[in-house]
Amino acid sequence: MPGETMKKIVSLAKRRGFIFQSSEIYGGLKACYDYGPLGVELKRNIKEAWWRDMVYRRRDIVGIDCSIIMHPDVWKASGHLAGFCDPLVDCKNCKERFRADKAPRRPAGSDCQYREGGKADGKKLAGKVGPQGYVCPVCGCGDLSAERMFNLMFRTSLGPIDPLQEILDAFDALAPLSSEERKARLAEIVNRSAVYLRPETAQGMFVNFLNVLNCSRLKPPFGIAQMGKSYRNEITTSNLTFRTCEFEQMEMEYFVEPGTDEEWYRYWQSERLSWYRSLGMRSERLRLRAHEHKELAHYAKACCDVEYFFPFETDDGEGEWGELEGIANRTDYDLKRHSEYSGKDLSYFETETRRRFIPYVIEPAAGADRAALAFLCDAYAEDKAPDAEGREEVRVVLRFHPRLAPIKAAVLPLVKRDGMPDKAEAIMKALLAEGIKCFYDEAGAIGRRYRRMDEAGTPWCITIDADTLKDETITIRDRDSMQQVRVPMAGVVTWLKERLQ
Ligand code: ATP
Repeated sequence: MPGETMKKIVSLAKRRGFIFQSSEIYGGLKACYDYGPLGVELKRNIKEAWWRDMVYRRRDIVGIDCSIIMHPDVWKASGHLAGFCDPLVDCKNCKERFRADKAPRRPAGSDCQYREGGKADGKKLAGKVGPQGYVCPVCGCGDLSAERMFNLMFRTSLGPIDPLQEILDAFDALAPLSSEERKARLAEIVNRSAVYLRPETAQGMFVNFLNVLNCSRLKPPFGIAQMGKSYRNEITTSNLTFRTCEFEQMEMEYFVEPGTDEEWYRYWQSERLSWYRSLGMRSERLRLRAHEHKELAHYAKACCDVEYFFPFETDDGEGEWGELEGIANRTDYDLKRHSEYSGKDLSYFETETRRRFIPYVIEPAAGADRAALAFLCDAYAEDKAPDAEGREEVRVVLRFHPRLAPIKAAVLPLVKRDGMPDKAEAIMKALLAEGIKCFYDEAGAIGRRYRRMDEAGTPWCITIDADTLKDETITIRDRDSMQQVRVPMAGVVTWLKERLQ
């Protein structure tokens, strides 16, 4: 059944505490999600792995943490105010509103394949695909409004005066004005205090280029990394956390000498693809896809996406490539524009050669939420394992890489007596003292406890049994192979630490 795997993953995500619908007790809020106790660890581990590999393991990249609200001129200079838009379309049949460039494509003039549904439960059942060559993603209708561009930035106002209240207060004074004058006056009121929630973290790195250059004594090639929340008023949100209005990005701007940009662009493509593989993502579900010329953003000389094959339900069945990360050659566009708009010289002077240049920028821009969803989908597996009576049963297991696993080890006394819980408690204490996220469970049959940990993606289960009481050894069960090894109790922390590194 198409979409079956995704349904199972969504249900597991909720049941085990990875992802919850936001404000669920109030009926939820569209496309807003909360991370539960396991989900928050998964996402933190992904961000931690990114920061460690991009910043701590290199000498040429430093971090930064910028404010979400920036000077509104930043967005004029970056081009976001004028051009960060998506094509919005209304379905005339079911009234669904959607992004034209993400809608199902069909040959213009062909017969439409209708489905029931949509906001107004559209009544039309037959028709032809319009000249745009796409149909409504909900009901399949080809009778669509013209595309109009919609800016994705969230606008808010800074300061104690609410622009809406100001408009209401000025209402009577506006009435005698001509339509043009009224519009100009309204725009003035709104724009006076308008600020935007950042739609990407990148601009923080560009506007701080000089600050970082001066304080860090780095010189090109070097990078500035940042992770944090970004906001986009997405028209179409879908597939759990794949596309939401509030999300977290992990971006790095790498400043290089013009002329070396293509080489660094290739370097970062290979580095970033390897990063996902190094954390256990299956190679056959990962690919790099170069953007066609018409897809390129206004600032990009070249761009490619790291894509993952998600088990999403599609018209043709199950599975769809989706972007995890974009790697772009942004040229000197951003630094030039900010120089122009701010009046500050953002060029770099190379003392050895006495040359001045505006660096080119290579940007690997990843999403923490999409990565978390992809790692969750990739980890999901069903296999066979023996139940308490030795009969084979289906086992649901999340095969997370140990670096990403929310819980690293479970500590399980075989029974609740004979001093086993005391031994287990001692192991728990030792692990917690090292800051290793672990979980204690003494309730129920051991097989069932293993299964619960398999479903949470815990790589190792430490079991305290009768032999522990005799010889101070414990067993460590491997989640994937289900094999057990006996290890001295005193060595268990070192055993785990070696594997977690
Ligand atoms: P898309 O084409 O899917 O809208 P994009 O090309 O606009 O994405 P970028 O601007 O390159 O995305 O952002 C970098 C990364 O940030 C993306 O690869 C993705 O992982 C993440 N991201 C962007 N938009 C969203 C969103 N609405 N929800 C969740 N993650 C997002």
